[in-house]
Amino acid sequence: MKAVRLIEIGKPLQMQEVPLPAVGERDVLVRIKAAGICHSDVHYRAGTSSVGPLPHTLGHEIAGVVEKIDESVTSVKVGSRVCLHYLITCGNCDYCRTGREQFCKDATMLGKDCDGGYAEHIVVPARNAVSLPDEIPFEHGAVLMCSSATVFHALHKAGLKPGETVAVFGAGGLGMSAIQLAKAFGALEVYAVDINEQRLSLAEEYGAIPIDAMKSDPVAGLHRSTGGKGVDVTLELVGLPQVMRQAVQSLAPFGRAVLVGITDQLFSVDSYREILGKEVQIIGSSDHLLQELPVLIEFVRQGTLDLSRVVTRTVPLAARAINDALNTLEEFAEGVRTVITPSG
Ligand SMILES: [Zn+2]
Ligand SMILES: [Zn+2]
Repeated sequence: MKAVRLIEIGKPLQMQEVPLPAVGERDVLVRIKAAGICHSDVHYRAGTSSVGPLPHTLGHEIAGVVEKIDESVTSVKVGSRVCLHYLITCGNCDYCRTGREQFCKDATMLGKDCDGGYAEHIVVPARNAVSLPDEIPFEHGAVLMCSSATVFHALHKAGLKPGETVAVFGAGGLGMSAIQLAKAFGALEVYAVDINEQRLSLAEEYGAIPIDAMKSDPVAGLHRSTGGKGVDVTLELVGLPQVMRQAVQSLAPFGRAVLVGITDQLFSVDSYREILGKEVQIIGSSDHLLQELPVLIEFVRQGTLDLSRVVTRTVPLAARAINDALNTLEEFAEGVRTVITPSG
């Protein structure tokens, strides 16, 4: 089969012909219909995040059709439409059995530790194949497995209650899902903070109140908009120390700042005025859980979460088109999301 692979760190991906992976015990073979190109893939290609042995097939946002199953599999059938939970866990350790599978010591991630979705086929354990209803296009099924699932988990961690206010820092792929899901959780107002006008106007279409951090201080803007109180929940989706600080400073008393964006830099807070004086919380959110996916998928099926304007472009399974999409992401110039559709 064809796969577009990372051969050498820092170099463009290349098309390779690789053997069709074997279907092991409790596995399914999936013909890939859609694979999202994620900002994490830029980091894997550049070498700023570690990635499995090279050559390696990237891609952790995958949807497709089951083409072959091991005889023991009963959860899906040949022909089933599925999207793939990207974390393969042991299912038996303390973490797995207590709903904290992201911390499974034996976990491997599709497209990071093992070969992923920039290919025609993939083999995964059957329990990682989650049913995708007919109403949801494969492209949406693919991207919801990463960005939407990540913010869905973050909103759970925030303990967002109906009637609270939310500010989403970063109106990219994650932000667009966060805005809609925050509304679905009962947020009264959702503010979107970004520096890109195009993204802010899309956020506004999805029902957010835009705040342009290029034109004015977002912390002051959020306090002004909430009558001086601040917002109850902030989501930091950018991964910049300055933005993390803003997410904390924008909080109302008892507020919760959830950190989702990744950076290896430190950020500072004024512990007295910004944390204990207001009894706010800073919460870390890492990945998401398999058990969260069916409800998330149902939100998409019912139209509560609309991804039609998030998936902005599809490209074929071709090295050049994929590298171009990664280059665009690297320059932060991307509209929102590009998805590879191997069969066009
Ligand atoms: Zn992703
Ligand atoms: Zn485990």
